[in-house]
Amino acid sequence: MYQFKVHKADKLSTALDLFNASDEPAYIAGGHTLIPTMKQRLSAPSDVIDLATIPGLDAITLVGDTLQIGAMATHAKVAASSLVQEHCAALANLAGGIGDRQVRYRGTIGGSLANNDPAADYPAAALGLGAQIVTDRRTIPSDTFFKAMFETALEPDEIIQAIHFPQVDQAVYLKFPNPASRYAMVGVMLTRTAGETRIAITGAAASVFRAATFETALTADFSVSAIEAVTLSAETLNTDMHASAEYRAHLCKVLIQRGVEALTA
Ligand SMILES: Cc1cc2nc3c(=O)[nH]c(=O)nc-3n(C[C@H](O)[C@H](O)[C@H](O)COP(=O)(O)OP(=O)(O)OC[C@H]3O[C@@H](n4cnc5c(N)ncnc54)[C@H](O)[C@@H]3O)c2cc1C
Repeated sequence: MYQFKVHKADKLSTALDLFNASDEPAYIAGGHTLIPTMKQRLSAPSDVIDLATIPGLDAITLVGDTLQIGAMATHAKVAASSLVQEHCAALANLAGGIGDRQVRYRGTIGGSLANNDPAADYPAAALGLGAQIVTDRRTIPSDTFFKAMFETALEPDEIIQAIHFPQVDQAVYLKFPNPASRYAMVGVMLTRTAGETRIAITGAAASVFRAATFETALTADFSVSAIEAVTLSAETLNTDMHASAEYRAHLCKVLIQRGVEALTA
C-alpha cells in the first residue's frame, strides 16, 4: 500500500473539518469496502477519517414509532438488537443474512448505504421500508437517496448520521444469495402499511429500485393471483457471469410471490 494519514474523529464536526482540510479525503466506517478498493488501487485517499471513534454513532433507539439506527451500527448489532427484532423483524433478518460473520462484525449500515453497491441488502431495506437518511446537514428520503450504481444524493463531504425507519404493518425480506459472496443475486423487501404495498429490489439492476407495477397490483389486491399476469421487464436488468437479465426478472417475480405468501400465511 502507499502512504496515507489516518485521523480519528471525536465528533461529526471534527470529521467534517478534517475532510475539508485534506487533499483526497475519505471517511472510513468498518473499511469493508474502502480497504479492498485501496488495496486494488481503485481509490487512493491522502487522508482517511475514522468515524468509529465518534461516540454514540452506533446507537439504536426507538423514538415514538420511529426506529433510529446510527450509521456506525454494524450488521451484527442490528441483527442482534431486540429493539430492531420487535419493531421490524425483517430488518433484523436482513442484517443477519449479510455476508459472513467477519463482514457482519465490521460492516456498517451507514457504510453500506453510502456505498450503494448494486447488490447490497440495506438499500432494499431503506427504500422498501420508506426510511429517511439523516446526515450532518439534512434529512434525505430514501426515494431520492439512491441515484445510480455506487452513487447517492450525498455531497462528497456529507456524513450519514442515522437512518430512521418508520413503523410498517408488515414486512418481509427475501434474498437469493450468491453462494460465494452472499451478496444478493436478487433481494426483495416487501412491506405493507395501511393497505399500501412497497417493494424494493436489489441485486437485479444497476441500483436498487421500486417495482411499481407489482406495487399497484398488490395495493389493489394483496394476493398471489393479483400478480399472476404482472411481469418485470428484463430490459434494464443486469446480465453477468452469475445470471442473465431474463433469469433475474423471473427471480424477482418468484421472490415477490413468496413474499406475498409469507405475509398472508
Ligand atoms: C466478503 C464480503 C461479503 C459481503 N457480503 C455482503 C452481503 O451479502 N450483503 C451486503 O449488503 N453487503 C455485503 N458486503 C458489504 C459489507 O457488508 C459492508 O456493508 C460494505 O462493505 C460497507 O462497509 P463499511 O460499512 O465497512 O464501510 P467502509 O468500507 O468503511 O466505507 C464504504 C464507503 O462509504 C463511505 N462511508 C462510510 N460510512 C459513512 C458515513 N457514515 N457517511 C458517509 N459516508 C460513509 C466511505 O467513505 C466509503 O466510501 C460484503 C463485503 C465483503 C467484504
